[in-house]
Amino acid sequence: MTQKLWLVAAAAVATLSLGSCQKVGSPNEVPAFAAINGDYLKTGGDGSNWAMTGFSYDEQRHSPLTQINAKNVKDLGIAWFTDLPDPRGQEATPVVVDGKMFISTAWSKVFAYDAKTGKPLWSFDPAVDKARGVKACCDVVNRGVAFWKGSVFVGTIDGRLISLDASTGKQLWSAQTLDLESNGTITGVPRVVNDKVVIGFGGAEFGARGYVTAYDAATGKQAWRFYTTPNPMGEPDGAASDEILKTAATSTWSATPKKGDWRESGGGGTVWDAIVYDAELDQLYIGVGNGNPWNHGIRSNGEGDNLFLSSIVALKPDTGEYIWHYQETPAETWDYTATQPIILATEERGGKDVKVLYHAPKNGFFFTIDRVSGKMLSAEPFIDGITWASGYDEKTGRPIEKPEARYNQTGKLYMANPSALGAHNWHPMSYNPATGLVYIPALYIGGAYMPPVAPNEQERKKLGFNTGGAFATADLPDDINFVKAVKAATKGKLVAFDPKTGKAKWTVDHPASWNGGTMTTAGNLVFQGTAMGEFRAYAADTGKQLYNLNVQSGVLSGASTYTVDGEQYVAFLTSKGGAFPLVAGYAGNTSAAVPNIPRLIVLKLGGKATLPALPEAQPYVWEPPTQTGTPANIAAGLSNFQRYCLVCHGPGAVGNGVLPDLRKSASIADADTWKSVVIDGVLKGNGMVSFASVLSPQEAEQMRAYVISRAHYAKANDKTLASK
Ligand code: CA
Repeated sequence: MTQKLWLVAAAAVATLSLGSCQKVGSPNEVPAFAAINGDYLKTGGDGSNWAMTGFSYDEQRHSPLTQINAKNVKDLGIAWFTDLPDPRGQEATPVVVDGKMFISTAWSKVFAYDAKTGKPLWSFDPAVDKARGVKACCDVVNRGVAFWKGSVFVGTIDGRLISLDASTGKQLWSAQTLDLESNGTITGVPRVVNDKVVIGFGGAEFGARGYVTAYDAATGKQAWRFYTTPNPMGEPDGAASDEILKTAATSTWSATPKKGDWRESGGGGTVWDAIVYDAELDQLYIGVGNGNPWNHGIRSNGEGDNLFLSSIVALKPDTGEYIWHYQETPAETWDYTATQPIILATEERGGKDVKVLYHAPKNGFFFTIDRVSGKMLSAEPFIDGITWASGYDEKTGRPIEKPEARYNQTGKLYMANPSALGAHNWHPMSYNPATGLVYIPALYIGGAYMPPVAPNEQERKKLGFNTGGAFATADLPDDINFVKAVKAATKGKLVAFDPKTGKAKWTVDHPASWNGGTMTTAGNLVFQGTAMGEFRAYAADTGKQLYNLNVQSGVLSGASTYTVDGEQYVAFLTSKGGAFPLVAGYAGNTSAAVPNIPRLIVLKLGGKATLPALPEAQPYVWEPPTQTGTPANIAAGLSNFQRYCLVCHGPGAVGNGVLPDLRKSASIADADTWKSVVIDGVLKGNGMVSFASVLSPQEAEQMRAYVISRAHYAKANDKTLASK
């Protein structure tokens, strides 16, 4: 976009805000910073604030506001917007307190704005070492800040938990929650309970041992830590988890050491998103991630359930002591995390009010769990065509598996739905007490699993994913019909799930996958942005589409809503990014043409601001460099490309608009340029570190031959790409 257009738009916003009249409601009626405490977060207040990413402790993402409602939502327009610095995934839900908005962005930066006008108040850059980006499995995202008694808390990609003064953005303290040598990264939202800030981290793909840590909110001093997998040395950690790991978890892991198993990797089990506080029962629920390596045959010799992988674990928030757990996917082998958002509710069952939690994890089943006992009450599919299990035994709480899904036992390729990206990933879901429905941003992304073929696939490597599977051996079929079929099957769905019936009440089909999170209001509305660059509202009870705004870029984040001076606003971020767009150019390019614009957009009734026009498309000259590699070079390059590059640059080197599409990159034209990036690390400031520790210059050059072959293939077969 041009600077001039932006200035015109900014001037329009400024004029509008000068011209808007003051409405009823004095600022004193809005709880001030100091009032945002445990009592406040129990309910989230009257809706004037959106004081935590999930709105209130039950994380229903439901606002009681009704000024914007099903009748007038069609009149929503842009009140103000502001562009954000880094064109990477933006996953944060805006937090608003007392007319001030706080967001986190890619690379763990924090920005504060006047929530009415968009005037910047302060910003904070933790100056993360960009080389750390290579350890972020799923883009250098951040899903939002926590607010507590005038402080703002953010976790950083390099493993710090930082407290900021909400009025000035000044750093109050910083705690290093991850060892600097670790493979962990923080992308999740801290939660504050009883004056303790609780944080986990991600990184199970690379090798990690998961834990959550609580810090004193005022000082940053560590209060307790709970590990989710046993200590590989068989020793106590001196942590809150010692007792339960010894008595219940260690025996669920193989006692027979095996090359590359959990003792080497840490077992996984990172807690990278859901950490939810139950104020009614004074319990904290953590959603635990997948195993490392994924392959249960290697990780645990095919033995045991491997607690607490893929489980929800209830802890005492003051001490971190174990209360109960429920394991959704025993002996996890497909990257089926239980880290997805958790919602707390009260549901009438058999004539009684039951305190339940709702969970729609990657594995495709919607769980209703009794919060008092941890007992699974029901598990029903929220997507069609689940291939790994036919259902759950409600007596034992265990899945009824399909044997073909255990690829490590069959030794065969297994085509899966859901894939490792899940039937639902991190994107927020919401619950509306009036409709009793849970609004799930569901995913249809098929995938494949295969045990290791090449000997080097069993070995752990220093950089990149360690899945213990043949992530990598097979090339993608060069068949345009196959590509089309995969694209057609890769889509999204908004599922309004009724926990009482175990079925969807209504659904909306999205042509592309990886759409935004949802937010719902007492105005009978559900809001959701899409991968195709729209921001929409639906009637919460019927699913009727009531509003559709072109926002130019994809939407990943969940929205929030609040009032200033009596006027209701809706805020969300736009961008492309996160795990799926990085890996899924091949299958996911239904949305490939949608621009990646990192931006904060705020709507209100009658908002008149307009987004700057998109730059005109430049004619693209498609001339892949001459292939100098031999077929043997290309084949060798394929193997290493899939092993080291695929998770960021896409299978088959097909990009999707977040990181460079290597087939179109100037760096493939010249061997020295390519080497300077891949081996010498000249782009490490962008997160593209040197791969010299795992690749020789010859191997890097073979990869260049492979990417050139993909460029020629694309020119010959993919007209949409060739014309861009
Ligand atoms: Ca994972």
